[in-house]
Amino acid sequence: MRRIFDIICIILFLSGSAYGQLLIQEYNSRLEKPIPQYKIEINLDIENRIYSGKERIVFKYPLSKDKDVILRLFANSGGGSERNLDIKSIMLDGKTAEFFFVDDTTVSIRGDFVSKKSYTIEIEFSATLPEITQESTDIFLSTLKQLLGQGSSSVTENNYGIFGCSANICNIASVVPALAKVNNDDWSTSRMTGMGDYQRGDFADYEIDVVHDDSVLVVSNGVIKKRESLKEGKVRSRFFADSVNDIILEASCNFNYVRREINGVLYISYYVNDRDKRLAELSIDVASEAIGFFSRYYAKYPYSEFKIVSAPMTGGAGGVEFPALITIGDFLYDEIDGDEQRTGEFISYDLLSQMFEFVIVHEVAHQWFSTLIPSDSRTEPYLDEGLASFSAYLYFINKYGEVEAKKFLDNQIRLNYIMMRLLGYKDMPINTPIENYENMFQYAGIIYGKAPLFFVKLYELIGKERFRFIVSQWVKERAFKDTRLISLINTLKANEPAKASSIESLYKRWFEGRYGDEDIGKGSLKDLLKFLNNGKDLDIDFNLDRLKKFLEDTFDMFREYR
Ligand SMILES: [Zn+2]
Repeated sequence: MRRIFDIICIILFLSGSAYGQLLIQEYNSRLEKPIPQYKIEINLDIENRIYSGKERIVFKYPLSKDKDVILRLFANSGGGSERNLDIKSIMLDGKTAEFFFVDDTTVSIRGDFVSKKSYTIEIEFSATLPEITQESTDIFLSTLKQLLGQGSSSVTENNYGIFGCSANICNIASVVPALAKVNNDDWSTSRMTGMGDYQRGDFADYEIDVVHDDSVLVVSNGVIKKRESLKEGKVRSRFFADSVNDIILEASCNFNYVRREINGVLYISYYVNDRDKRLAELSIDVASEAIGFFSRYYAKYPYSEFKIVSAPMTGGAGGVEFPALITIGDFLYDEIDGDEQRTGEFISYDLLSQMFEFVIVHEVAHQWFSTLIPSDSRTEPYLDEGLASFSAYLYFINKYGEVEAKKFLDNQIRLNYIMMRLLGYKDMPINTPIENYENMFQYAGIIYGKAPLFFVKLYELIGKERFRFIVSQWVKERAFKDTRLISLINTLKANEPAKASSIESLYKRWFEGRYGDEDIGKGSLKDLLKFLNNGKDLDIDFNLDRLKKFLEDTFDMFREYR
C-alpha cells in the first residue's frame, strides 16, 4: 500500500550556516590529496518515492595495474528482487563507456586505465525508494517466538531501512553509484550479506544539488550552501560534503529542528512530532557531551557540523552513523515520549532513557571509529562496532561513575551476548567472518556484545591512564588512514612490553576461542528480566501469557544498534 505524504506540509528553510567546509582546518593536511570529486544533480520526488539524476566523478586512477573501474551501489543491498538504484548510461572522458553489473551492488566499467592519470566518469541514474512499513520491523517477533520456543531461525535480509521511505521520512543512504573503496591495490568488491554495514568508500568531496518540492526539507551530512526557489513550487538545495567517506540525504515534509552551536560545532537535531522537541534538545545535549568527551579522550572531532535525524529504522537498528550525521530510530522517540502505558509493566523509564543516550553516544563514537579511523566493516566489524560501544562505556564512566557504568555495560552490551545464548546460538570467536554467522542475533551477540567486552578487558589489563595515553596517540597517528585491529594490538604491545604476552593471550582467547560463557556468562531468563528491570530482581512467575505480554511491552529492548 502506497502511503501518501501529508498534503499540508510546513515549508521550512534552514537559516543557513555560512558556506564553509565540513572538515575543520586542523585536519586539512591529514588527508592525502587529491581525493575524488563528485558533482551530483538529483531530482527528488518523495511523494512517488523516486529520483533521477546525473553525477560527474573526477578522480585519479588509484591502482598500479590496469583493471576495470568498479562502482558500488549499496542502495541495492536490501536483497529485493528489483534494483533500487539503476544506471542508465556511463560516459568515460566524454565517450560512451561499456559497463556491466557484476552483481546488484557492483558495476564494472571497461577502459584502459593508467595509474595516477586523471579520469572523468559521467553517470545517469534513476532510483526507486522502497516503502518502509511498520511490519518491516517485526523480525523481532521472531526473537519473542524463539524465546517462547516456537521460533524459526530465519531472519530476512534487510538494509536496516537506510534506503527507503516511511510515511513521514525518506532515508537515502548511498545516494549515487560511487567508486569502490581501494584495498590492497585493488577495488573492494566485498559481498553484502544482509548483516552488518556496507563498506564505506574512500574519502572524497561531494557537491550535491537536489531539486525537490518546496514543501520538503532535505537534509544531508554536508553543509548547506544555498537553497534557491525555482519555478512551479520547486526548490534547489545545494550541499557540500568535503572529506567524507559516505553521503546521506534525509527528506521529509514534516521535519522540525532545533539547533545550537557548542564549542565551535553546529548541532542540528531533526524530528517530526511536536512532542519530540524535548528529545531533540536532549539529543543535542548528549551528542555535544559525547563529542566533547571523545575529542578530549581520543582526538578532536573532525567536522564543523553534527546532525541528528529521527528516522525510520528496520531490522534491529537503533541508529546508523554517517560522517557528521547520525540517524536515531524514530521508535525510540515514540517509546520515550509516547503513551506512558506503552512503556510496559516492568520496563523502567530510566532504562529506556539510558538506551536513547547509549544509541546516540554509540553513533557519535563512530565519528572516531569508522570515520576518523576508517576500517573494513565487512572483514573487521568488531573494530568499529566494538570500539564504538566500548567508547560509550568510557563516556558512561566519565558521566555517571564506575558503578552506573557497570549497569550500563550489563544492560546495553552484555545483554547482546546473553540474548544470543538464551536464543540457543553458539558462542563464536570474535574473528568470525560475517558470512559464517547463523543470523543477526548471533552477529549481534558477538559484534555488539563480545567485541566491546574484549576492549573492556584490554582497558582493564593496560590500566586506564596508560590505555588512554597509548590509544589517543594511536588515534591521532591513524587519522584518515585505513586501519586494522592488529595495528592497535601491536601498538599496545610495543608500548607495554611487560604486558605483551598477556595482551596476546587475551586477544587469542577472545578472537580465536569460545570462552564467552566463562568470561561473560551464559545468562538465564531471570537474568534477562533483571537487566530489563534496571538491575532489580523480578518476582514473577513464568506464565507464558504474562511473559509474552512483558516481552511485547519491552520489545524494543531486543533491538541492537549499529
Ligand atoms: Zn555501530
